Amino acid sequence: MNVESQYSLIFNAKPRWLVRGPGRVNLLGEHVDYNGGPVLPAAIDQAVWIAADVSKSELITLHALDLKEKITFAAEGLEKKLDINGRPLPTWAQYPAGVAWILSQNGYKIEGIQAVYSSNIPMGSGLSSSAAIEVAFAALWQMISGWDCDRLRLAQLCQKAENEYVGVACGIMDQFATACGVKDHALYFDTRSFEWYPIPLPKDTVIVIADSGMRRSLTHSAYNERRAACEEAVRLLKKFKPDITSLRDISPTEFAAYGEYLPALIKKRAEHVVKEIARVESAVNALRRDDTESFGALMFAGHASLRDYYEVSIPEIDVLVSLARNLPGCIGARMTGGGFGGCTVNLVWAAQVNDFIDGLERGYLEKTGKQAKVYVCHASEGTSVTCI
Ligand code: ADP
Ligand code: MG
Repeated sequence: MNVESQYSLIFNAKPRWLVRGPGRVNLLGEHVDYNGGPVLPAAIDQAVWIAADVSKSELITLHALDLKEKITFAAEGLEKKLDINGRPLPTWAQYPAGVAWILSQNGYKIEGIQAVYSSNIPMGSGLSSSAAIEVAFAALWQMISGWDCDRLRLAQLCQKAENEYVGVACGIMDQFATACGVKDHALYFDTRSFEWYPIPLPKDTVIVIADSGMRRSLTHSAYNERRAACEEAVRLLKKFKPDITSLRDISPTEFAAYGEYLPALIKKRAEHVVKEIARVESAVNALRRDDTESFGALMFAGHASLRDYYEVSIPEIDVLVSLARNLPGCIGARMTGGGFGGCTVNLVWAAQVNDFIDGLERGYLEKTGKQAKVYVCHASEGTSVTCI
């Protein structure tokens, strides 16, 4: 049953608003967003759907259908993170509540709403189910009250909500991609200047996502360790180039000259970042001249670097990438997201996608004894709100 019907069942009324908030996949530029580098994500057709209307009570009542949970909290006093009965907000509710909190804090009016929502973006697999929810609720509140705020700013506010309210140290890429997606396009997004533009994806190709089914708890400490290594590299490289503020300021040529003075582990981490940033620039040029083959090669190179230099891959993900390389229709493949499990992203010729998926599922089962969830995605438009 869709969210509109569920809304009618629960609230005994028709919803007024329908929101679609897409997930996102990153095609290239991994672990560069906290180094000021450019990324290349796309919004995808997996999405969260919200059916909603303004509530008469001025309270916010949410039904998270996938979790079979509901919550009611007031729009005022959100900093306490309590529901209407004085109980602490559960984590899932902190995503929409955090958005309400940050919007109010910044002077944007928040109406009481009643809403149901459901998503087919798998949770915690690197496709950004959390940002999809945040931006979808932000866009809903914006549409209801009609205040002026561009999509990039909305994304920044949602990132702040996740950082400061939920307490997750995420970058800006996820919220940006779900907010600003363009159908059939990847998004070049400079995480330092916030400039961005859409680039058409090659014709007759599809994005295939393969979920390894693996989720690792290590993610948090490893993420912090990688960030610290990058900061240390910047500190040490200042000896050669005093003005740098992030690894974005070091070109691959400079790195070839100075990198050898870094401790071995720091050098490996920094090498990934410096070259990954260069790969994103090369990938954009490849797309512009319709050089699909080079684009694919850059995806494979990006994966090898995440595996060998940044060391955030796992054997199951490596299996998916090496299987993909030899399957019909494969242009490029790599891990996507923070690492330590989750998904691979593959660019595949549309005409051969069925054979590709069959081969990948079969090969993964043979090699690991595990079932991968493999599905076709299309680059889709960003968050949208319609009056129904
Ligand atoms: P992801 O990589 O998918 O964004 P996160 O750990 O950042 O993973 O966010 C996942 C969290 O977002 C979930 O634990 C849950 O709190 C919230 N979330 C995701 N999908 C849903 C959903 N369908 N319904 C309610 N909450 C959700
Ligand atoms: Mg997330």
